Amino acid sequence: MKKRIGLLYGGKSAEHEVSLSTATAVSKAINYDKYEVHPIYITLDGQWLRGPQLMQAAESVEQLQFTKEHVQQNNITEFVLDQGKQAQFDVIFPLLHGTNGEDGTVQGLLEVLNFPYVGNGVLASAAGMDKVVMKQLFGVAGLKQVPYVYFIRHEWDQHQEILLEQCQSQLSYPMFVKPANLGSSVGISKASNLEELKQAIVIAFQYDRKVIVEQGINAREIEMAVLGNNNPKVSVAGEIKPMTEFYDYDSKYKDGSTALVIPAEIPTDVEETMKDMAIRAFKILDCAGLVRSDFFVTAQNEIYINEVNTMPGFTPVSMYPLLWQHTGVSYPQLIDTLIELAIERHLEKQ
Ligand code: ATP
Ligand code: MG
Ligand code: MG
Ligand code: MG
Repeated sequence: MKKRIGLLYGGKSAEHEVSLSTATAVSKAINYDKYEVHPIYITLDGQWLRGPQLMQAAESVEQLQFTKEHVQQNNITEFVLDQGKQAQFDVIFPLLHGTNGEDGTVQGLLEVLNFPYVGNGVLASAAGMDKVVMKQLFGVAGLKQVPYVYFIRHEWDQHQEILLEQCQSQLSYPMFVKPANLGSSVGISKASNLEELKQAIVIAFQYDRKVIVEQGINAREIEMAVLGNNNPKVSVAGEIKPMTEFYDYDSKYKDGSTALVIPAEIPTDVEETMKDMAIRAFKILDCAGLVRSDFFVTAQNEIYINEVNTMPGFTPVSMYPLLWQHTGVSYPQLIDTLIELAIERHLEKQ
């Protein structure tokens, strides 16, 4: 019998559009002989819209943004209540990036509903989304990372001068200022002086109540993909070569100027150390399914972990699937494996 897959995408997130293109790509690659595909679109304002079963690849992103007349169920309460009546899906595939989706909130709902779902659970998603919590756990795991300072809006409002002083005494320019909880470089700025630092902090606070200021590092950017549950495997390494000042939103999704070099040209021992770090990062956050680990590698081959992404970009031209392709796992095989891992993890919990 075909497995019923609920494709969950969109989301109340600054990464809504990225999720839509991911969902379109998955709808093109998923095996319709093996799976029944049921689209569930979360609008930007958080409404859950369940559309008609997809019989073939979505032709465009727009097709996945249902108009009201095509909607079968149109709010989360119905979705939840219906689950009590009948098992609608064998596996939910959350293709959500950023807040309200990659951060454990949706994972919590799916846990409560007892749905098997692809990818990371509540804890790993939440800890992986919050760059401060993530870095603190990485510290516990002994993973090398750049120095950082962080604060919440309330502290910034009261002690702006002290916090700027703290940044300038503990870090040197350039600094990278980020909302603690986001992705796709949304809200991130590079600051090269005090004036830019202040502006960057104001921008980051537009997206989150917590901000992290990091020491900027002059290094190559190398990423690795991890796949599995209890015995995770690591892919070959890939290098990102942005032509812009840094790997910002436009260079990720808009201007196509960024080169991805797979496999990355790095010495074997450096690659081995990074693999070990990727596994340690996976384990300390108690990850499941998939994670993409982002590293900085200096000219002296010093390795720093930058972050992990618990639901990395997932179109066929995104780093995560490309890394697996170069390791011998095709995009459709990757989808199959992730669905199998979701079921495995669900059974383990029962
Ligand atoms: P995504 O989830 O899409 O990978 P993100 O929003 O979580 O991105 P980061 O990966 O932390 O953000 O940073 C985005 C980019 O900014 C990096 O790929 C890199 O180009 C640059 N960057 C971030 N932090 C630093 C740093 N400390 N030093 C130098 N460059 C940095
Ligand atoms: Mg990220
Ligand atoms: Mg991300
Ligand atoms: Mg990143």
